[in-house]
Amino acid sequence: MKFSGIAAAPGIGLGPIFRLEREELAVRDTPVAEAAVDREIERFRAALDASRRDLDSIRRRIAGELGEQHALIYDAHLMMIDDPELSRAVEEGIRRERKNAAWVFRGYMSGVAARLDTTEDEYLRERQADVLDVERRVLRYLRGGEPRLLADLREAAVIVAHELGPSEVALLQRGRVVAFVTEVGGRTSHSAIVARGRGIPAVMSVRGVMQQVKNGDFGAVDGYVGQVEINPDPETAAHYRARGELLQEEARVLRELGHERAVTLDGRVIELGANIELLNEVDDVVACGADGVGLFRTEFFYLGRLELPSEDEQYEAYRGVAERLNPRPVIFRTMDLGGDKVASYLGMTHETNPFLGWRGIRFALQHPELFRTQIRAIYRASAHGRVRMMFPMVSSEEELIGAKHMCSEVATELERAGVPHDPDLEIGVMVETPSAVWLADVLARHAKFLSIGSNDLTQYTLAMDRDNERLAHLYEPLSPAVLRSLRHTIEQGHAAGRWVGICGEMAGDPRTAVLLLGLGVDELSMSPFDLPRVKAAIRSVRCEAAQALGLQALQCSSAQAVKDLLREHIETMLPSFLVAKRSPL
Ligand code: PEP
Ligand code: MG
Repeated sequence: MKFSGIAAAPGIGLGPIFRLEREELAVRDTPVAEAAVDREIERFRAALDASRRDLDSIRRRIAGELGEQHALIYDAHLMMIDDPELSRAVEEGIRRERKNAAWVFRGYMSGVAARLDTTEDEYLRERQADVLDVERRVLRYLRGGEPRLLADLREAAVIVAHELGPSEVALLQRGRVVAFVTEVGGRTSHSAIVARGRGIPAVMSVRGVMQQVKNGDFGAVDGYVGQVEINPDPETAAHYRARGELLQEEARVLRELGHERAVTLDGRVIELGANIELLNEVDDVVACGADGVGLFRTEFFYLGRLELPSEDEQYEAYRGVAERLNPRPVIFRTMDLGGDKVASYLGMTHETNPFLGWRGIRFALQHPELFRTQIRAIYRASAHGRVRMMFPMVSSEEELIGAKHMCSEVATELERAGVPHDPDLEIGVMVETPSAVWLADVLARHAKFLSIGSNDLTQYTLAMDRDNERLAHLYEPLSPAVLRSLRHTIEQGHAAGRWVGICGEMAGDPRTAVLLLGLGVDELSMSPFDLPRVKAAIRSVRCEAAQALGLQALQCSSAQAVKDLLREHIETMLPSFLVAKRSPL
């Protein structure tokens, strides 16, 4: 039996299945006599206190094991427990409705989860799992029950559950749990983040798996590709094991590359940046051996919440990143709201063509106060490290001039007020639209660097929605139309003396990375997970050879022809482990 799901945490795990039953937390609505109301409220407070103690200890444990950054997840849980609105609403509810604490509390938490459920923002929706995790913990204390126990785990096992909360993943014993599989959850869930941090392979969103497996079945889990196989034949199991060993070996080789630079055999150095969006990923950037952060997507500050982040809050966050990375540079991409990243509290409503709509720099320039606040925060953070800034979705010179104008106003204000900042903060521009490609020479006059967002550039060049699953097989960054756009942008950037980078997904595949090197790019930025492989690829080729292939690719008439070229020439130049486990081109 084979299942596929979301590859939530990399690694391969094999072992007997241990089903973690869904916790029965049915709550009954029981009247509370007037005389017992105070006692019920006391019970509720005691449950909150006990939950707080648990979470404090989980937090300490994770901080010790993985560092402060990972422990932040539990701060969010503690904040929920300590939210005065929660205590007020539940205590008032108990008094007013004369209902048991568990009933009133469940009602309140369901309301919080329901609000998150209606959001279109995946990140925010994933936060429902955190709400549920906290809810379960408090309810358990209210009912007087024990937490779900993994004490029955006598041997190393693959855990299969409907869901596992982040506080449960934090407590999994690494020696005993070789992998876990859940029916819900995604890559951005906190459970997935903790699993990755703790090195426990995980596959999530495997629909219906609980119905199909029983204790004692044997499971093989591939957290690299998101596959689970139940009771594989011995040959297949051996294949998983061999693959697990190869990948471990690969991981060892890649770790050794650690802090080496990405330099080709003939001496061309490429800057390798990491793309991140969460503060707690900064440690991954350092760990993966990146030269810095090539793309910090700041819109998640606006999305993972229900109100605007203040200047100070943003400043503290950006400053933390800049300090942690120093002397490595970080490029903050200013808010790229709109498109698929809609914050309804900012008045963004449904648009007929959201990707062609009120997005990125267009939205920012029409919200000068919001934009200025962010720019001030970034400038202030620049006093604490090597900070750069760039603007998304630019399609005209006026937009870039307008945004830069706001930057100089902010810099002057800060100067006058004596607020520390870097007056020479480098400002760049993202090239994500065909108009930016054809204005690359113009934009390069105003910007210190160009960073090509190939995800959007592909969608706009091919006029294909990047999220439309019916078009997924046609959405093709390797289309010669896209490659020629890249080449033109790189040439124009260089002619103006600017460096040119690429921070879309294509930068993270070792094979395409070599092609991009051949097209003349100076920097590649990608997820920290992909970076070591791209580094290994760059270090195993000659720039000259990549350039020759780049020229050939530009002459290809179709994406298929480019792929054939990559398969025939680039794949053969790379160490086999870089090619073996990647999806075919
Ligand atoms: C891109 O468009 O390639 C890019 C890096 O930005 P995002 O994926 O955030 O739109
Ligand atoms: Mg983009």
